[in-house]
Amino acid sequence: MTATSTQPSTEPKVLHEIYVGGAWVPSTNDRLIDVHNPYTEQVIARVPAGSAEDVDAAVSAARAAFESWSQTPVAERAAYLNRVADVLTERTDELAAVITSELGMPLKMAKLIQLGTPIGTLKTYAKLAEDFAWETEVGNSLIVREPIGVVAAITPWNYPLHQVVAKVAPALLAGNTVVLKPSEIAPLISYEFARILDEVGLPPGVFNLISGAGPEIGQALVGHPDVDMVSFTGSGRAGREISATAAQTVKRVALELGGKSASVILDDLDNEAFAKAIKSSVGQCFTNAGQRCTAFSRILVPGERLDEALTAAAKAAESHVAGDPMTEGTRLGPLVSEAQRDRVRGFLTRAVASGARVVTGGPDAPAGVESGYFVSPTVLTDVDLDSEIAQEEVFGPVTVVLPYSTVDEAVRIANDTQYGLAAGVYGADSDAAVSVAKRLRAGQVDVNNGRWNWMAPFGGYKQSGNGREFGTAGLEEFLEIKAVQR
Ligand code: NAD
Repeated sequence: MTATSTQPSTEPKVLHEIYVGGAWVPSTNDRLIDVHNPYTEQVIARVPAGSAEDVDAAVSAARAAFESWSQTPVAERAAYLNRVADVLTERTDELAAVITSELGMPLKMAKLIQLGTPIGTLKTYAKLAEDFAWETEVGNSLIVREPIGVVAAITPWNYPLHQVVAKVAPALLAGNTVVLKPSEIAPLISYEFARILDEVGLPPGVFNLISGAGPEIGQALVGHPDVDMVSFTGSGRAGREISATAAQTVKRVALELGGKSASVILDDLDNEAFAKAIKSSVGQCFTNAGQRCTAFSRILVPGERLDEALTAAAKAAESHVAGDPMTEGTRLGPLVSEAQRDRVRGFLTRAVASGARVVTGGPDAPAGVESGYFVSPTVLTDVDLDSEIAQEEVFGPVTVVLPYSTVDEAVRIANDTQYGLAAGVYGADSDAAVSVAKRLRAGQVDVNNGRWNWMAPFGGYKQSGNGREFGTAGLEEFLEIKAVQR
């Protein structure tokens, strides 16, 4: 299908190069990977499929740059982060459009979230450098925080700049050098990011960009003996493979994986606040077409208020106007790829076959959209707690509403998955809501829609990963600790 779109239809941009040792060099593999625009469904670019030789070259460049970069004063390293933040700020509109073209997130939201968040991350880390305890004393010991060495950063497609910056900013600030392998599904913003790092004059080899698919290029990078640490965001499947490979050379591995996050709506909310809490939970889940690891894909409500909850959830879901993500007013973009669309449709079809009730939505594209990998914003209920749809990450605009009878039961249901990335609690008595938050086995719990905080650690319990990003914990992730006895 072709689209009547405000997006320019151009010949695919062909990128043969990778960024190694401060220069754009041709990949040693001529094979290219297509990058699609998920709304127009057209190929918009081609990037190198990469090779083991590319990986070697990038790791050698990073290794060669390490000695000097690790000795560069931290204030200078921080200054680079601020300069990058300034360029991202100046070029927000243009860069957000790059992300919208490869990911499908509506442009207005892309500016706010996909650019706004990395800008905040860079500035926060630059500021943190001033206050961080790089050296402390314990008795007769001097405790020194030092960079680990060469960091491999492997990132997914759903927040393609944010996830890159969440790794590259603290890794560089700590004095490490980096080889980035972004997602082959949305790699274009990483190419822009590499150009920006080049433009701000980052010394050659401190940051390197390679390209290619996970099982080949990602694995070659993870297995490379000269890589000291792997920082990975993505699926549990890839996280397990990365851990297994990295274990052979005893690398440090930080994993940010998936989730099946619950929003717990408490019973003390009046009708208006209750509807608001449901609306906020659905909105949180459907941001980026539900392609977010923290999505509130389970909404837990008091059983006697189930009907009230379903009405509010349907209304909230139906307010997600689908369409061309470049157009003002579009709230729901397509899923990132045909494969992702089919995957989400599979979850919905199987859920319905196993008895789930569709409150609104379903596997088809919303009425009126002309092209793109869409499914309708969907609310399900009458779902078995052990069923796939209640347990597995869907990564689409789909949430299930689950009734509970007591707060203890709500906590038990919320905690009853293999994941533990995020959760929400909504309640009139905020102290009581915080008490419930403390009982949830998840790394980040937002009470009454609590705001994102760049200084707060982010990461998962259980199979949602290990390690933390952001704030002091995010910086420490990329540091070794040395004790010097005197
Ligand atoms: P993915 O795991 O398929 O790919 C992520 C990255 O890993 C890509 O760069 C890919 O090329 C690479 N990769 C894949 N297999 C690999 C392997 N065997 N060895 C080395 N590298 C490999 O994930 P995705 O589809 O890009 O992203 C969606 C997933 O990411 C979801 O499960 C989502 O929950 C998760 N995610 C987690 C967070 C978080 O912070 N916890 C944030 C966003 C996304």
